Amino acid sequence: MAVVIVVGAQWGDEGKGKVVDLLTERARYVVRWAGGANAGHTLVVDGKKYVTRLIPSGVLRSGVTCVLGEAMVVDPTVLVDEVRAFRAQGFLARHEDLVVAARAHLTLPYHRELDRLRDERPDNTIGTTRKGIGPTYESKAARIGLRVGDLLHPDRFRLQLARQIEALLPQLTALGGAAPDATEIAAHYLALGQELRPYIADASKLVHEAITRGDNVMFEGAQGVLLDIDHGTYPYVTSSSATAGGACAGLGIGPTAIDTVLGIAKGYATRVGGGPFPTELKDATGDLLRKRGNEFGSVTGRPRRCGWLDLPALRLAIRTSGIEGLALTKLDVLSGLERVRICVGYRVGGQTLEEMPLDIDDLAAAEPIYEDLDGWPAPGSADTPPSATKAAARFVARVGELVGRPVWATSWGAGRAETILTLDPFASADAAV
Ligand code: GDP
Repeated sequence: MAVVIVVGAQWGDEGKGKVVDLLTERARYVVRWAGGANAGHTLVVDGKKYVTRLIPSGVLRSGVTCVLGEAMVVDPTVLVDEVRAFRAQGFLARHEDLVVAARAHLTLPYHRELDRLRDERPDNTIGTTRKGIGPTYESKAARIGLRVGDLLHPDRFRLQLARQIEALLPQLTALGGAAPDATEIAAHYLALGQELRPYIADASKLVHEAITRGDNVMFEGAQGVLLDIDHGTYPYVTSSSATAGGACAGLGIGPTAIDTVLGIAKGYATRVGGGPFPTELKDATGDLLRKRGNEFGSVTGRPRRCGWLDLPALRLAIRTSGIEGLALTKLDVLSGLERVRICVGYRVGGQTLEEMPLDIDDLAAAEPIYEDLDGWPAPGSADTPPSATKAAARFVARVGELVGRPVWATSWGAGRAETILTLDPFASADAAV
């Protein structure tokens, strides 16, 4: 058995969904620990595209239980839609296929409204998905939150709803928002609660029991480590913990239970929203990567900023999440370029840095130091991956060498088959038993 944490090792959108979907072949539980409906994954199986919002990427495997952990924020309208859509396609057939933590906090309509109103202000530079995630975590920290379990206790729900609305009303009205209708919200959300009732449980305990039984458990990171609220490029970050340690805190699972951490990175870099991005390409190559890599948000459709692979950023992710192996994705997107660049360090105020500085002014001033490698030809077909070419293999090996971690997987297309897995942490653990 193994307990594996998979994190995005950049700013999100690394292709985690695809890699997690592949590794779930051997997993019994796939667990999300943070964030909410701001972190969609796109999965392509047998040429068909599936988009997840809140449900982890294990949803397409039968026999896998998907868990929405305690530190997540759950928008019941999104979750109910997602459950209905997957059930209509034959997934989540048994109610035990999905577990939603009773202690996860609820995103309510006015959280989304606050998020939108703030994001629309001309002086706002952060850029959010407008899904209400930040405001929900604010309510949680202010101890005025409503939780998933409250949906099953109507009187308690109504009381806490009134308290929360009273606390948030001044902010909403100051931004030009309307007063929420508590009666309408209660009626709608309590009805959604009844639909979610079979899935609501103590996720922490359930995952703990699975680990004790010896089941393979995968924790699936939602965003990227560089968006972590404490260890990311603050304030251009998300409002939760995206590092591997967040999985332990989020589910209430001790760090001693974890066997390994896999970090996923693209062969280049992207980020959405504001914030310094030293390797950003504002030229035709950037446009090419965006177009070829379809770098538009799966939740918002926003174009992603694109740039060369940034190893100082990757080193920061490796250090703060204890990443032991890497998966490099979207290598096909780089194919056909004559030259591929890797940022191996930064120059900041006369100093050379190997790891990304987190002081926002230093990061804004960072000048990338590049190593140039030969490009590789475009792939012929799925069964002749460009890793067959020396230049691509050299790129992969060089990345591993420069960050001091082995590359366990490479990905050359969106489909399951377009992946080369040299080490599957679950398979190795099973083989070792
Ligand atoms: P995630 O949140 O990290 O799962 O990333 P997203 O789902 O937002 O974006 C990843 C996108 O890249 C999805 O549309 C995947 O289908 C796609 N993808 C994953 N791996 C590869 C790959 O190796 N090559 C290409 N071309 N697309 C990939």
